[in-house]
Amino acid sequence: MNSSSFVDLGLIEPLLKVLVEQGYETPTPIQIETIPYILKGRDIIGCAQTGTGKTAAFALPIIQNLAAERKFPKAWGARVLVLTPTRELAAQIGDSFKTYGRYVRQNQAVIFGGVGQVPQVRSMAHGVDVLIATPGRLLDLINQGYVKLNGIEIFVLDEADRMLDMGFIRDIKKIIAKLPTKRQSLFFSATMPKEIISLSNSILTNPYEISVTPHSPTVDLVDQMVMFVNRDKKNDLLTKVLTDYGAEKTIVFTQTKHTANKVAAKLCEAGIGATAIHGNKSQGARTAALKDFKKGLTPVLVATDIAARGIDIDDITHVINFEIPDEPESYVHRIGRTARAGASGIAISFCEAAERDRMREIEKFIKREIDFIDDHPFHSQDAQNATGTKAKRPPRKINKPKKRGGGTKQMPQNKMIHRKNMRRENKNRRK
Ligand code: AMP
Repeated sequence: MNSSSFVDLGLIEPLLKVLVEQGYETPTPIQIETIPYILKGRDIIGCAQTGTGKTAAFALPIIQNLAAERKFPKAWGARVLVLTPTRELAAQIGDSFKTYGRYVRQNQAVIFGGVGQVPQVRSMAHGVDVLIATPGRLLDLINQGYVKLNGIEIFVLDEADRMLDMGFIRDIKKIIAKLPTKRQSLFFSATMPKEIISLSNSILTNPYEISVTPHSPTVDLVDQMVMFVNRDKKNDLLTKVLTDYGAEKTIVFTQTKHTANKVAAKLCEAGIGATAIHGNKSQGARTAALKDFKKGLTPVLVATDIAARGIDIDDITHVINFEIPDEPESYVHRIGRTARAGASGIAISFCEAAERDRMREIEKFIKREIDFIDDHPFHSQDAQNATGTKAKRPPRKINKPKKRGGGTKQMPQNKMIHRKNMRRENKNRRK
């Protein structure tokens, strides 16, 4: 497929109108690859992460296919089922369907756990066109007789590998067993381990396969740096970096919920607006925190990996790894929160001695060395030398910004401010 415009992809006018309103000028690679095949009714297996435009890649053609043959869904039924691992993702996908389907008459319901079921049950009473759900609550409502899946025409399984990680595989199989065998199925996963491939074989018929590069394509657009620091100075370094950067829309990642709470509290003490989101917070608190962050009312969100999974917020300027993740894949997911859909972004990792090896694993995984910055007041030579070998590369010259290609959005202004601050600081220190 060489189509480079949404018109070439065969989308109808009401969808094109929304895309113009959304400011989407050109389709992303996954959209170019999948939209025509979904429109033709083919099954799809897509290896793609969030941040690639995956939601629109399936939502747009689904909306068009439904509009082509208008039917009234049956009570408690739906024409489309989208299964997704987290509540946040479910809510975001629901919002996407609502936005993209603005000019065609379609409705949707979103079902997830952690909140009362009554409004969700009510939303299903007359049936909906599109049902977006997490597996646990969906099964629960099916068992109570409040959701019926025998009218499903299109089934989407989103983030299949994450479903597996989160232990949803049995629930998913139970749900799939309730779907009509004659249906269109779309299967998306960021990685394709064996179990996922065998699951996909049991769901799909003659699927069209697409892969949007094995590792996140967004990685290349993110300006990545490491700062070596002792554990007890991480909070001070964070405050300094956020102050220097202007902390416009930053996600700070921690390994545990407890650290997330502590980091957010320290930032608030230092006068920087921050909220923590993680699994222990109520759904209401998480939604409110995300809303404030989206609006820019709270500049910093401190999150654990699971809580931040799939958060779809545009214009995140910085990702800070307060702690280095155990899995290199998580690093890629984390930094992919910035640099969404072709924008550029900055990712800074705070690395203490005990995390030095993890950082090295990450470099191997992404097949590149990450520049480090040592001219900050909390630099720890011990952390840098933790593996016993002195860094072979000279530290990054931060007053010479790298040239980079790609990226349709503007480079965040804050980065310039930061570099200026660093230069000023160096000058002062030399005096
Ligand atoms: P997703 O991979 O579905 O999580 O999408 C990532 C982000 O890209 C979302 O904020 C979308 O609104 C945005 N997006 C999706 N498609 C496009 C496009 N063709 N042009 C610009 N932004 C897009």
